Amino acid sequence: MKRILVTGGAGFIGSHLCKRLLDDGNEVICLDNYFTGRKKNIISLLDNPYFELVRHDVTFPYYVEVDEIYNLACPASPVHYQHDPISTVKTSVSGAINMLGLAKRTGACILQASTSEVYGDPIIHPQKEDYWGNVNPIGIRACYDEGKRCAETLFMDYHHQNNLDIKIVRIFNTYGPKMTPNDGRVVSNFIIQALTGKDLTIHGDGLQTRSFQHVHDLIDGMVCMMGTKNFIGPVNIGNPNEFTILELANTILELTDSNSNIKYLPSVQDDPKQRCPDISLANEKLNGWNPSISLKEGLKNTIDYFEKELFNNDLM
Ligand code: NAD
Ligand code: UDP
Ligand code: UDP
Repeated sequence: MKRILVTGGAGFIGSHLCKRLLDDGNEVICLDNYFTGRKKNIISLLDNPYFELVRHDVTFPYYVEVDEIYNLACPASPVHYQHDPISTVKTSVSGAINMLGLAKRTGACILQASTSEVYGDPIIHPQKEDYWGNVNPIGIRACYDEGKRCAETLFMDYHHQNNLDIKIVRIFNTYGPKMTPNDGRVVSNFIIQALTGKDLTIHGDGLQTRSFQHVHDLIDGMVCMMGTKNFIGPVNIGNPNEFTILELANTILELTDSNSNIKYLPSVQDDPKQRCPDISLANEKLNGWNPSISLKEGLKNTIDYFEKELFNNDLM
């Protein structure tokens, strides 16, 4: 049995990961400061004697004995990471330093939840891991993009300088159950708007693209990455099926059978125009890993979750 630390474990992805690691027979320590996460996401795990919950901010040192660390602590929705940009940089950079220090002291293998945002507004399409990106270092997304880029730098430097066992995964847009209704990202916004009869708010002309991955596919990829030998990444983990935001809106309207209208709002600064992962490296290195959940299938599952979340307070 391994003892595994998941930072940001009460968040959307972290809570799925904690459950998966427990189901696989591990002991899990979930660390979170509840900035965007919530206890509700992991409440069903609290009775498990191999699950431990710690309220802590990763920007402060933390001492524990563990075999593996998944470093997910960081707000991921643009609305939330732009709310307190200085704190976002501190979380990405100081948080990474502390967790790398912990990994160095304990000899734990540490995986960083990096992001497709390291590619910024990409000029190369689809994005491969050897692309260095196109990031505005002083724009409103910089606190997140540059914070995550610096965290990747730190991971590589601790690997080369201190021989740390590291893994870097670049996660592309992920959605699914356990996103909070106020998350602010596009899939949850559109589903809630469609279910409550409000206008679906599209920023810009809706022709910008994203490639949406269901969280279950991501968790498989992350756990598989942690299990690899002699491979540190970075590796893209995402679904290569690309859609415009307008196509996403129409698909959600169709699946929810909603009469909501689409409302166009001004575009947001530095919004990437296109994003799609090249996943050939993941496919090669992660035992043939491939996302298996189609957008429609994944959206149906997520719509079911939000219906319960919005209209039935008793259900988790
Ligand atoms: P989320 O906001 O639901 O989860 C982040 C968690 O980190 C929350 O529980 C939050 O409370 C916690 N946290 C934030 N700052 C902290 C701090 N200083 N100390 C301790 N805990 C802190 O977001 P998510 O979608 O689950 O994202 C998880 C990770 O995956 C993030 O690192 C994010 O950058 C990365 N990621 C996510 C996506 C995506 O599409 N969901 C894409 C790329 C990368
Ligand atoms: N650290 C931590 N937990 C540990 C070990 C280290 O939080 O179990 C923090 C420590 O406070 C330090 C950071 O990780 O600030 C980086 O550690 P490292 O050993 O690389 O640097 P140093 O302590 O030499 O500054
Ligand atoms: N978006 C939108 N309406 C919303 C939320 C987001 O049109 O209510 C757009 C946003 O401008 C971007 C895309 O949807 O082009 C994805 O945004 P999200 O915040 O989900 O994640 P990002 O990939 O930008 O980090």
